[in-house]
Amino acid sequence: MILAWIHDVVEAVQSCVTGMRTTGRFLVENLKGEGGGAAVTRQYPEQPAEVVGDRQRGHLVNDTKRCIVCHACDTACPVDCFKMDGERDADNKMRASRFDIDLSKCIYCGLCVRACPTDSLSMTATFEMAPQHDGKRFLFRRNSKQVDVRLDLHDVERLERLVAMPRSGLSDADRAWLDERIDERGQHLIGMYGLGYYTPEMKAEADAQREAKKKAKDAAAAAAKAKAAAAAAAAGPTPARPAAPAPPSAPASPAPTPPPPAPKAAPDTTGGTP
Ligand code: SF4
Ligand code: SF4
Repeated sequence: MILAWIHDVVEAVQSCVTGMRTTGRFLVENLKGEGGGAAVTRQYPEQPAEVVGDRQRGHLVNDTKRCIVCHACDTACPVDCFKMDGERDADNKMRASRFDIDLSKCIYCGLCVRACPTDSLSMTATFEMAPQHDGKRFLFRRNSKQVDVRLDLHDVERLERLVAMPRSGLSDADRAWLDERIDERGQHLIGMYGLGYYTPEMKAEADAQREAKKKAKDAAAAAAKAKAAAAAAAAGPTPARPAAPAPPSAPASPAPTPPPPAPKAAPDTTGGTP
């Protein structure tokens, strides 16, 4: 009993010393300014992270060119982060016309990434949530009035152009446009990712292209059919096919064997009754 108690005390002291040794090492590194990637505490955002683990689950990114709108990610997500709509493009293939990920709900479990059959969903090593363009997508804050604001392709392109500009270069119209979409108060750090790939005009264009393609295909089929019919008519009437020889008649079946005659009654040799 006493020995077990002493053993527990020794283990506690050992783990305390190990922890303090690690803390002390990082403290000395930070005091010397040599922290680098090994430092645990950094003065963010002045000192952004320099080393991020390979398995970091950062922002969700959907490479929508590969997305087939199968809803597998939507089904796998335990907290209902996804809102998506699909459209058929000019080649009659499904593509996302809307693909929104509500990161305010996301628990970064990665289940959606594992469920995606086309590997179009992935998680980046990027983790900052400030309104910015991280190379593939936009993260921005929305307050309750802004939740319904949709971003179509033109909006995304405009946002991309604006975030690449210095603040001083923004026009009043640009600032007003951004204010409608970005919550500067930072109270609702939602990072909802709105991406519409079809504006109504683009959708009409895609529909028209698909319809034209279908008409061209039908017209080509009709022309081929007419050509075949004309060629058949030019070749003249089709000669009658010779009658097929009659099949040989089946041999007559032999007459049925007559039944054997009934035996005659034996003559009465008893003389009979007088
Ligand atoms: S990481 Fe998890 S919670 Fe986040 S969107 Fe994917 S499935 Fe949903
Ligand atoms: S699982 Fe992948 S392919 Fe299917 S809808 Fe989600 S992102 Fe698109």
